[in-house]
Amino acid sequence: MDHAGRLKRLQSALAEKRLDALLITSLANIRYLCGFTGSAAALVVSRDSSYFFTDGRYAQQAREEVQGAKIKVRRKAVLVATGEWLALAKRPGLKRVGTEGDHLSLSDGSRLKKMLGPGIRLRQAPPLVERQRMVKDPEEIARLRRAVLLGASLFDIALDTIRPGVPEVKVAAEMEYAARRAGAEGMAFETIVAAGERSALPHGRASNAAIPARGFVVCDFGVILAGYCSDMTRTVFVGRPSVYDRDVYQAVREAQNAAVEAVRPGRGVGEVDRAARNVLKKKGLARYFTHSTGHGVGLEIHESPRVATGQSEILCPGMVITIEPGAYLQGRGGVRIEDVVVVTERGCEVLTPTPKELLTI
Ligand code: ZN
Ligand code: ZN
Repeated sequence: MDHAGRLKRLQSALAEKRLDALLITSLANIRYLCGFTGSAAALVVSRDSSYFFTDGRYAQQAREEVQGAKIKVRRKAVLVATGEWLALAKRPGLKRVGTEGDHLSLSDGSRLKKMLGPGIRLRQAPPLVERQRMVKDPEEIARLRRAVLLGASLFDIALDTIRPGVPEVKVAAEMEYAARRAGAEGMAFETIVAAGERSALPHGRASNAAIPARGFVVCDFGVILAGYCSDMTRTVFVGRPSVYDRDVYQAVREAQNAAVEAVRPGRGVGEVDRAARNVLKKKGLARYFTHSTGHGVGLEIHESPRVATGQSEILCPGMVITIEPGAYLQGRGGVRIEDVVVVTERGCEVLTPTPKELLTI
C-alpha cells in the first residue's frame, strides 16, 4: 500500500485547510495512512512529518506494520500520551491542530484541550482522510474484489442451509464458519438472515426464529479479507411465490439494475438514488423503500459517499459503492438486492458475481 503517497496527500490538504497538523483518532484512518492494524493508536500528521502513538501491548506490531511515521510507545492511555507529547513539543509550527470530530468524544476533546493549554488551538477538521479514502487505488480495488468473491461464495452455503424449520441463526452460523475457513478475518457486520414476515425488517439480524414454510428470506452478509469489507444481499423465496411476490421481487431487481446503470463518473450520487426510486415509484412501491440506495465500502463497511436523496457527492473513477434498493411490506415480507460496484472511466463494473433472478427453495 502506498502509505507515503497517502500521507503526502493529507499533508497538502492540511496546508489548504490552514492546519499545522491533524490528530487522527479513527483506527480505520490510521490504518489507511500508516498500515497499523491494532486497536489502540493515535497519529499526528504535521505538514512535514508524522508521529504514531501506541501503548506497550502494540510495540512489536507497530514496528512491524507502521510506515512513514515515527513510532512512540508510551505506558499510558494513547490519548494522554499524545496530548503530553503535543504539549511538550512546543514547536513554533504546531499552533493549529485539527481533530477528527467524528472520532474524538467530547470528554476526550476537552481533556486534551486542558493538557495542551492556550499555546495550541484545537479545531474540528473536516473529514479529510475519509474524503481521501473515497477513491480507492488499484491495490485496494484488488483487495475489495477478493473480499467480494469470498463473500459471494457464502451464498451457496446459504442456499444449501435455508429450509423450512431451520433457525435463521443456523444459516448465519454455517455461512460464518465457511467464511473463516476460507480465510476471512471476520464478518464485516452481523449477518442478516430474515425469513418470512421478518424479511420486512431492513436490518433483521439472524434470530432464533425458524424459517417458515413459505415466504421471502433476505440474506445480507459480508466478510473482511485483508482488511477490506464485502457486502451483498440476495433474497430467495421458500415455497411457491404468488404473482404479487414475483412482481415485488421483479420491481426491486429492475430498480437495482436502473441504479447500477446510472453509475458513472460525473454523476451525482443523488441521481443514482433517484434511478432506483423512480422504478419503484412506477410500480407503486416507492413508499416501501425506506433506506438509502447505497454506501461506499472499503476498510469499513459504511464509508463515504452515501448514495442517498439529498447527497451531492459526484462519482469518480475508483469509488467503490454498494447498490441496494429494497421494498419492505410489513406483515408480508421484504426484498433487497445488493451488489458492490466500482466506478470506472466510462461507467461501472459490478464486482458481485452472483445472478439475480428469483431463486425458490
Ligand atoms: Zn449489505
Ligand atoms: Zn450495504
